[in-house]
Amino acid sequence: MAKIERRKTVAVDVGGVKVGGGHPIVVQSMTNTDTADAAATVNQVMELARAGSEIVRVTVNTEEAARAVPRIVETLGKFGFRTPIVGDFHYNGHILLKKYPECAKALAKYRINPGNVNIGRKTDENFRTMIECAIEYGKPVRIGVNWGSLDQALLTRMMDENARLPEPLDAAEVTKRAIVASALESARMAESYGLPHDRIVLSAKVSGVQDLIDVYRMLAAQCDYPLHLGLTEAGMGIKGIVATTAALSILLQEGIGDTIRASLTPAPNGDRTEEVLVCQQILQSLGIRSFSPQVTACPGCGRTTSTFFQEMAEQIQNYLREQMPAWKERYAGVEEMKVAVMGCVVNGPGESKHANIGISLPGTFEEPKAPVYVDGKLVTTLRGERIVEEFISMLNDYVERTYGAGAAAGRG
Ligand code: SF4
Repeated sequence: MAKIERRKTVAVDVGGVKVGGGHPIVVQSMTNTDTADAAATVNQVMELARAGSEIVRVTVNTEEAARAVPRIVETLGKFGFRTPIVGDFHYNGHILLKKYPECAKALAKYRINPGNVNIGRKTDENFRTMIECAIEYGKPVRIGVNWGSLDQALLTRMMDENARLPEPLDAAEVTKRAIVASALESARMAESYGLPHDRIVLSAKVSGVQDLIDVYRMLAAQCDYPLHLGLTEAGMGIKGIVATTAALSILLQEGIGDTIRASLTPAPNGDRTEEVLVCQQILQSLGIRSFSPQVTACPGCGRTTSTFFQEMAEQIQNYLREQMPAWKERYAGVEEMKVAVMGCVVNGPGESKHANIGISLPGTFEEPKAPVYVDGKLVTTLRGERIVEEFISMLNDYVERTYGAGAAAGRG
């Protein structure tokens, strides 16, 4: 794994999952079902959890949603899912948490947006009510600032102060500082009401990559709360994935970030679990955490005449993903395995030798045979119609031999 010096933070216990304090960076996600529809929400939480989400957030926006939360958590438990469920509150969290104590108890953490919890009020009474609920039920909170709903009174005050400076900063810089100040001031207030220091996670999300990096660097330098990283409103498809990856990778490489989420907009009826896979892939590509064996495949070029090798790479990738729920129970360390599926002799044998197990398919004008390398050595050459099946069979044997109980006993 990569040697990245993580920023030192306190550890926060979120329903049994430790965030910060040097614990592995936690992957989380959020449902997009109507929380009041308990069945749909349970199903989506289970999908996200099966994909690897270690914490799942649900919106708690109405009385019906607050009433559904205990049922959701209980039903998940009956299906064997203990994934901590976080409640996302805006505007009316103070009312819902007070009125529905069973909801407050069932949730593993409350997300509070300081920009909209006290809207229209001169005091921070609503924020205080939510913090008092967290204290009463022994829950942590995430103080989640978002520049789309930044505390306008704070921003105005900071803009006014800035205007009086001999050399005022530009408005964008003041806004970034206001985002950081909002998170830190809210955390300070929460502690002044009695919430322990190690029950606070902070986030300060913006939608521009460079702005996000600036904001999190400032936040990281000024506190030791664990940080939840995410590029807000990242967008759809390639844009959302690349922007999220660009922003999070830079911060993670600097040791900043204790839990991450990819705020991707799914295509209509698209797969919500994509946001989980993106987070896992970011962490695995950076060498921070491993979740699933990785397939190294070349992009293909004029030397590959058919789509066979692309199809094979995809089949192998899908096969590995499908096996992982069972494999991770039986084969410790299998998530570190590297598999190569290469298109021709140019880089095929070399790349295959670097993998745990690799196959180099024949390119144009090459003899129709596919050498297979295991731990750097040529072990066989496959031919004919059943190359994929035979390679998968070799893969299974390799996994059993290398990560199975016998191998573990040998290692022990
Ligand atoms: S390994 Fe061969 S097929 Fe793949 S990109 Fe390189 S030259 Fe092209």
